[in-house]
Amino acid sequence: MSDFWPEGYRCAIFLSFDYDASSAEMWKTPHDLVAQSRGRFAPKVAIPRLLDLLDKLGIKATFFTPGWTVDHYPESVEEIISRGHEVAGHGYIHERMNELSAEGEEGVFNRMMEAFERIGVKPVGYRAPYWIVTTRTLNHLRRLGFKYSSNFMDDDMPYILDEEHGIVELPVEWMLDDWPQFELQRKAPEEVYRLWKPELEGIYELGRYAALTCHPQCIGRISRLKMLEKLLREFLDRDDVWFPTGRELSEWVRRRLSAS
Ligand SMILES: [Zn+2]
Repeated sequence: MSDFWPEGYRCAIFLSFDYDASSAEMWKTPHDLVAQSRGRFAPKVAIPRLLDLLDKLGIKATFFTPGWTVDHYPESVEEIISRGHEVAGHGYIHERMNELSAEGEEGVFNRMMEAFERIGVKPVGYRAPYWIVTTRTLNHLRRLGFKYSSNFMDDDMPYILDEEHGIVELPVEWMLDDWPQFELQRKAPEEVYRLWKPELEGIYELGRYAALTCHPQCIGRISRLKMLEKLLREFLDRDDVWFPTGRELSEWVRRRLSAS
């Protein structure tokens, strides 16, 4: 499968960040000010730190950003864009779409798009909050002109999700998400390194693909960010690992796999 990738590359690592800030807490726990403060660690501390690291490594990443974050931290989101990264859709206020009516979900998609419009961005990628995709979601992606989804867990290669609309899937896995490891299971950075390294090593050996999903407020703590840097450097040093944004990756996959 390694001939799948652009010349010179033998596998792909899709580095993505879900820039939730306090959106999820504003929806779930509107009266818990400390819970909300944890999300503010992202715009205040983690994002500047992370952007400096990505510059140093020469990696462009994708930031899945709720409309609420765009509306509350427009300068931070614009800084991400000005440093060459991609921003993509991630709900409005980190809603659980399966708890909403059809009208509710439609409203969330519209509000999300309006928030991006206010900063002059038309997102082409979508990742559902909590990776909850309903039977209606794909229709919203079609009507709003999205070009890729990054939600499903059925492959370790990207694939065409909707041939007619040219929508590509960039699959994910909870194992490669920092949140359950650090925030739910309270693992040490070395443990997460030991979890992620063999998976990425296998991807490299077999010429396949992995999406790393990180949250700035979680991975932006010093010890965790050092772990991420160490891991990324090991694969950057090989010179044949592709680190595309979601947009770049989806465009490549569409060209490679589309019948049309
Ligand atoms: Zn999220």
